[in-house]
Amino acid sequence: MISIFRKPKAYIVFSSEYLVGVSTYGDHNSFDIYKYKRIRDQLITDKLLKLKHILYPQPCSYNDINLVHTNNYIRKIKDPVFVNQALKIEVNSVWDNTVLEYYKAVCGGTVFAAFNAISLGKPVFNLGGGFHHAQPDKAEGFCLLNDIAIAIRKIKLKTEIKNILIVDLDYHQGNGNTKIFKDDASVFTFSIHADCWNKFDAVANLDVLVSSDLSDREYLRQIRLNLKEVLSSFKADLIFYIAGSDPYKGDNLADMKISRKAMLQRNVYILSKAREHKIPIVVLPGGGYGPDSWLIYYEFIKAALKGVQ
Ligand SMILES: [Zn+2]
Repeated sequence: MISIFRKPKAYIVFSSEYLVGVSTYGDHNSFDIYKYKRIRDQLITDKLLKLKHILYPQPCSYNDINLVHTNNYIRKIKDPVFVNQALKIEVNSVWDNTVLEYYKAVCGGTVFAAFNAISLGKPVFNLGGGFHHAQPDKAEGFCLLNDIAIAIRKIKLKTEIKNILIVDLDYHQGNGNTKIFKDDASVFTFSIHADCWNKFDAVANLDVLVSSDLSDREYLRQIRLNLKEVLSSFKADLIFYIAGSDPYKGDNLADMKISRKAMLQRNVYILSKAREHKIPIVVLPGGGYGPDSWLIYYEFIKAALKGVQ
């Protein structure tokens, strides 16, 4: 009997530990961690994803966290009161470490996604992460730990991968990443973000600031033009794509006007360039707020699983 194994065209990283810890309280009442479970469930319901094809990560170890974050900061984040204050979570338990556990789980997922992207040669989506504001000794903007930087340092430690490109299309600049990698020529930070976000801790290797009333057409043009330039000047061995859905016009917090269709075109374009240049790619959701935000990432993963180019 001949059995035909169909390998997935993309992989998903997720674990039930992604569902602990962060309540929808305080400043972040429109950030919904359950949207990732919803995405997973919908992909399975739509028969696009099989449970056996989901990759289950381990939480990030303190040794790995220490590749980026300082000893002093790691000591502080073990205190739930500090974590609640740092993230401005007003009503959350001060008795247990569930918020920290959430971040450790998702950071472990990004690390795991990166190793799998390299070994499987297919795009790997983490259903969480993209905490690009976190700095070695500071939390910022709902980012306690910097999963991207931790994964990059770990990959460099354990593999032959040399040059890493961060493509950050979140509405905000990834100031944690620009700061962490500002003196590291092997990590290229490329960011397109809203021009109201212009107080830099450190500049990216390429910062493109766009106005909030940018049209779909011009937004996509800027992405194509600049990515082409980046890929011709920097020989990347691995890409981290922060696919923030907050430029979407339905976003609750940001003010850009990009349509759902153009968001999908944007996302599929990044994947197609990675494929064209044969560069492994890890995808992280980054920011995205409001009832429709899950749909943007869902439609992206759906297209990747179907092999849309
Ligand atoms: Zn954002």
